[in-house]
Amino acid sequence: MSRVIAIANQKGGVGKTTTAVNLAACLAAADKRVLLVDLDPQGNASQGVGVDKSSAEHTIYDALVNGTPGVDAVLPTGMANLSLVPSTRDLVGAEVELVDAERREYRLRDALAPLRDAYDFIFIDCPPSLGLLTLNSLTAADAVIITLQCEYYALEGLTELLNTVVLVRGQFNPALAITGVVLTMYQHTNLSRQVVDDVRGHLGENVFETVIPRNVSLSEAPSFGQPIIYYDLKSTGAQAYMALAREVIARG
Ligand code: ATP
Ligand code: MG
Repeated sequence: MSRVIAIANQKGGVGKTTTAVNLAACLAAADKRVLLVDLDPQGNASQGVGVDKSSAEHTIYDALVNGTPGVDAVLPTGMANLSLVPSTRDLVGAEVELVDAERREYRLRDALAPLRDAYDFIFIDCPPSLGLLTLNSLTAADAVIITLQCEYYALEGLTELLNTVVLVRGQFNPALAITGVVLTMYQHTNLSRQVVDDVRGHLGENVFETVIPRNVSLSEAPSFGQPIIYYDLKSTGAQAYMALAREVIARG
């Protein structure tokens, strides 16, 4: 059975794309059939798996705005079992163009529906906002993974995000679950340790055991278009994302 998982947080730069790209790659390496959907106009996820977006005939924009069948926007990556629906800058316009559209919150769900059977996991990399794109993502998803950066304001905005999950459950997608919260960019400092304790204190079991460390290889890998397990398998970042992938499989 396929599982559609949105990676979300409206805060910018908290490790959403790094988590989406690397979870997708780790699960693909574990012989799962994986689709990564880039739902951010920045296109970082597309870049992270080394796909040249200029070669794409169709993108997530076409699927959302023009009703192009989702399958037409799927591209292979260089990696076995891992495919991508790319995004480009024009996705910025989608938020506005869809305002008066029919079923505007369901556009992504509709686009992915015929694709679900072909994949074990579909990961959606969300943009840093709670706009219509993220609403589409939460409406299309079975579950959401929230990334929190281990810094002082980690929990800031979390209430708003959780309220959005409740709203989406009430209006568009009653079955939406929260797979878990993953802490990212951990450093061996008192502050990082305190944030981990705080977040675990607030959210308990909802927090993944695996904490992603701050790791230079993780920040270098995207510029080579490689997920961390291909760029530097021995790095602490690669080991952490493999552990997180195992937890995601276990949490189902
Ligand atoms: P945005 O909100 O802009 O989409 P994001 O939440 O997707 O950002 P990322 O792009 O994954 O966040 O990460 C932000 C920056 O931090 C990137 O430059 C990324 O390479 C770097 N980064 C992410 N996680 C780590 C890590 N564990 N160690 C080192 N650098 C990291
Ligand atoms: Mg991102």
